[in-house]
Amino acid sequence: MAHEKYEPVIGLEVHVQLQTNAKIFSPDAAAFGAAPNTQVDPISLGHPGTLPVLNETVVEHALRLGLATHCSIADRSAFARKHYFYPDLPKGYQISQYDTPICYDGYVEIRPGEQKSASSGPDSRRVGLTRIHMEEDAGKSMHASSGHTTQLDYNRCGVPLLELVTEPDLRSPREASLFLQRLRQLVRYLSISDGNMEEGSLRCDANVSVRPKGRKAFGTRTELKNMNSMRHVERALDYEIARQSAAVERGESITQQTLLWDADAGTTRPMRSKEDAHDYRYLPDPDLVEIQVEEPMVEEVRRSLPELPRARRRRFVEDVGLPEYDAGVLTEERAVADYFEEALRHLYKRTKGGDTDAQAKAVSNVIMTEVMRVLNERGLSVGELAVGPERLAQLVFLRLEDKVSSNGAQEVFEAMLEEPDKSAGRIADERDLIQVTDRGAIAPVVDNVLDDNPDKVHTFLGGKEGLLGFFIGQVMQRFDGSPDPELVRSLLREKLDARRDTADVDE
Ligand code: ADP
Ligand code: MG
Repeated sequence: MAHEKYEPVIGLEVHVQLQTNAKIFSPDAAAFGAAPNTQVDPISLGHPGTLPVLNETVVEHALRLGLATHCSIADRSAFARKHYFYPDLPKGYQISQYDTPICYDGYVEIRPGEQKSASSGPDSRRVGLTRIHMEEDAGKSMHASSGHTTQLDYNRCGVPLLELVTEPDLRSPREASLFLQRLRQLVRYLSISDGNMEEGSLRCDANVSVRPKGRKAFGTRTELKNMNSMRHVERALDYEIARQSAAVERGESITQQTLLWDADAGTTRPMRSKEDAHDYRYLPDPDLVEIQVEEPMVEEVRRSLPELPRARRRRFVEDVGLPEYDAGVLTEERAVADYFEEALRHLYKRTKGGDTDAQAKAVSNVIMTEVMRVLNERGLSVGELAVGPERLAQLVFLRLEDKVSSNGAQEVFEAMLEEPDKSAGRIADERDLIQVTDRGAIAPVVDNVLDDNPDKVHTFLGGKEGLLGFFIGQVMQRFDGSPDPELVRSLLREKLDARRDTADVDE
C-alpha cells in the first residue's frame, strides 16, 4: 500500500461562531435560527454612510480563548478589509484581521492515546496555534436544487467569529478530530460558543499534505472544505491522504488547490485554485480604530476564567480520587462535571466521612451508566434530567448503605425519572425495594421457617444441600420488604449448622 510509505501533515483553520447578543460591529441580534433577513440593520448590510463600532464582548471572548490556549496577547492589533466578491457579502469585503491578530503563539493539548477505555495513557502532545483573530461572518446563500436560483439570508452578516490557525503539527485524521474535540470542549467550558459543528458554530478547513516517512520537508498541500462533523473531517482526510499518497507514488505532483468534501460520494473534488493573500487586497480598515489591550484587562479576563477541562480532570483524579478514565468522561462536558460535583457534595453531607474515594466512584458509576444512557436515549442535556444531583445522591446513599440491592437501585432510578417530586427513599419504600439488612429482624423468621419444616431440615442435614434455596425462598416470602439475600443465606447456614450439632442425623 502506497499509504504506508507516507506520513500525513495536517494543519487546521477553524472558525468559532461566538455567542453574543449583538453582532461584531452593529447592534442587531446575532442569534441563530431567526426568519431570513430579520436581523439585518444597515451596518451589517454595508449601506453607505454607516460606520462599524466594535462590540467589546468579542474582544473579551477572543481573550478568553487566547488565554485558555496559552497564547500571547497582542497589546495592539487592528482590523483589515479582505476583499472578494460574493453575493452573500454585500459590502464587497469582510472585516477581519491580517498581520496583527489579537492572539498568537499558543497551543492546545491532545492525548493521542486517548480511547474509550479505562487504560488511556496520559501521553499528551501540544498542537501549536499560530494565531487567533476576530472577524465577521458573511451571509448565507441557499442554492435551489434546480440549480437556477439562489436565495440569500443576510442574518449571519456581521455575526462574530474567531478564526484559529494551527501549525502543521497534526499527523493523522484521528489527531485532527481529537484536536477539534478538545477545542469544542474548551469553547463550551469558556461559554463563548455552543461549538456545534452540525449547525456551523464550529467550522473546520483542513490543510493536508503527505511526505515520505522520514523526510523533513513538507509536501504540497490541499485544503479541504465543507466537513460539518468530526466524522466527516476524519473521513475526508483519510480519503485525501490516500489520494495524495497514490498520486505521489505514481510520480505525479500535487496541485495546491481547495477541495470540497462530498459526503454522499465519499470523495473530494476541486472547488477552485487557492488564492494567495495578495488576491484579497487586504488593507487596514479605515473605519475602525486600533485595538489596545491593556494588562489590567488581560488580568481581569484571566481571573474570570473557569477551571478548565485539563485542570478539572487532574483534580478529579488527585483530590476526588477517581480513576483517570472516569475523570476524563465526567469532565468532557462542563455541565456533567458540575452535576457530578454537586451530587458528590450532597452525598458527603449524608455519609459524613468514610471512604470518600469509594463514594466518588459510586456517584461516577451511576452517572456513567444510568444517567448517560438516559441522556443519550432521550436526547437530553444533564440540566434537563428529572433526577437532579441531590436526588441522585439520595439514591447512591441508599445503595452504599445496602438499603437497596443493585437491581433495586436501577428500578428506583427509572422510577425517579417519572416521579420528580419523590425522594429516592420514598420511591424505594413505596415499591418495597428496601432491603431488610438487620440480623435481628431476620433471625426469628429463619428460626420459624426451620421449625415449620423439620423434615426438610433433617434431609438437608443428611446432605441434600440443594434445599438451601427452598429455605431462602420461604424466608423471603414471609417478609414485607425484601431482606438482603446474602444475609438470609448466611443466617440460614449458621442456624442449620447449629441444629446439626444437636440433632441426631442418620449419616
Ligand atoms: P494560507 O495563507 O494559504 O492560509 P497558512 O500559511 O496560513 O496558509 O496555512 C494555512 C494552514 O495550512 C495552517 O493551518 C498550516 O498549519 C497549514 N499548512 C501549511 N503548510 C502545510 C503543509 N505543507 N501541509 C499541511 N498543512 C500545511
Ligand atoms: Mg490562512
